[in-house]
Amino acid sequence: MRYRLQTTATVSTRVLDFDGRTVRTFPIRTALAAGTYSLRWGGRDDGGLLLPNAAYRVRVEATDSSGTTTAEVLVTKANRAIYPRTPGSIVIALDPGHGGPDPGAVGDGTHEADINLDVARRLRAMLAGAGVGVVMTRDADVSVNRPVLDRNLDGEISERDELAARLDVANLARADLFVVIHQNSASDPTARGTETWTSGDHPWIDQNLRFAALVQAELVSGLRAFATSTWSPVDRGVKRLNFYVTAPYEEGRVPRPGQMPTILGESLFLSNAGDRAKLRSAAVRQAIAEGYYDAIARYLAERSYGARYAVLAAPASLVEGAAGTVSVAVRNTGNASWPAGTYLYLRYVPAVPYYDGAPHRGLALRRVSLASATAPGARVDVALRFTAPAAGRWILKVDLRIGDLYLSDAGVVQLQVPFRSTAAPT
Ligand SMILES: [Zn+2]
Repeated sequence: MRYRLQTTATVSTRVLDFDGRTVRTFPIRTALAAGTYSLRWGGRDDGGLLLPNAAYRVRVEATDSSGTTTAEVLVTKANRAIYPRTPGSIVIALDPGHGGPDPGAVGDGTHEADINLDVARRLRAMLAGAGVGVVMTRDADVSVNRPVLDRNLDGEISERDELAARLDVANLARADLFVVIHQNSASDPTARGTETWTSGDHPWIDQNLRFAALVQAELVSGLRAFATSTWSPVDRGVKRLNFYVTAPYEEGRVPRPGQMPTILGESLFLSNAGDRAKLRSAAVRQAIAEGYYDAIARYLAERSYGARYAVLAAPASLVEGAAGTVSVAVRNTGNASWPAGTYLYLRYVPAVPYYDGAPHRGLALRRVSLASATAPGARVDVALRFTAPAAGRWILKVDLRIGDLYLSDAGVVQLQVPFRSTAAPT
């Protein structure tokens, strides 16, 4: 990494771990002249030992006659980079399960909600240090449905609204993947081990199962490092269930399901003494976070299709029948090239609260055929000219189609833009 000094200064540099402990101290450099300097760190501590894979904070403190200035950068030590072509175009949504009035499973005083949040924060730091965008449903011991709203519009306030609020965070961020982090519990105290849940009922069932298999494999393999004569990880496998957060669309109950590959990880059992002791270890929680990180990296390194949309310009309203243009930047974040002739679609659906989560595609306003191939990592800007539909409130939706495949059916979240047509003056 590089830093630039604007005046002559004394510079001290150290590396801190997730918990804020100093793990490496570089020699202090006194009377360093103004200029640009670079620093290399190979992931070792002061004794030359390799540190665990995790996010670290490199802190540079420069002191001159006017005082001390501190700069920090988050770096990730990991086995893999995440989508190295353009990591900044990837967004991962993390949901630490439970929180606030709901502690989740409680094992001998340890609350699942706290474990889930700690794992999520460790994972977020690793992703952020790798240059990846991250959204979290919560970053404190709170519920997510705040203010309390009937999020799923079923006429009552319930746990489903809390879960709908979490789905909204992932969907509104148009996350590439939704990672729901839990710990297990059972009435049988001998039940233990690791399992990963997903739904088989989405059009992107293959992607769900592949991501779940990677998470399960990486979690179990990371936990193997902590095996002792009395404890070893148990692989309980990938399971399918329509939890609220993994379920497909259901009218009146799940109006806005997750629109991307989603897994719910149950790393270990808080109701089992051996598993619980592991979960109380920061090193084990870090290994669980690393397992998720590696699964995300592997999934994104092999998935065929991904896209990140951004609105460059779009009208908020037009007179019905008038011409308008929605300009979008589209980046190929998958590993397959989009052939020439790939279509970018602009469609519209009636406006609904929040955003549209129903599986219908809407009516086509425009489609544009991409003139040349779009390589993985490349960006193409497209102007979608359209004629404003009948007076009313609408949502414009942008989707890609490659051959017969709509990318929204592969778990690539569509772009949605609120739009209003006004009545033509008579
Ligand atoms: Zn839970």
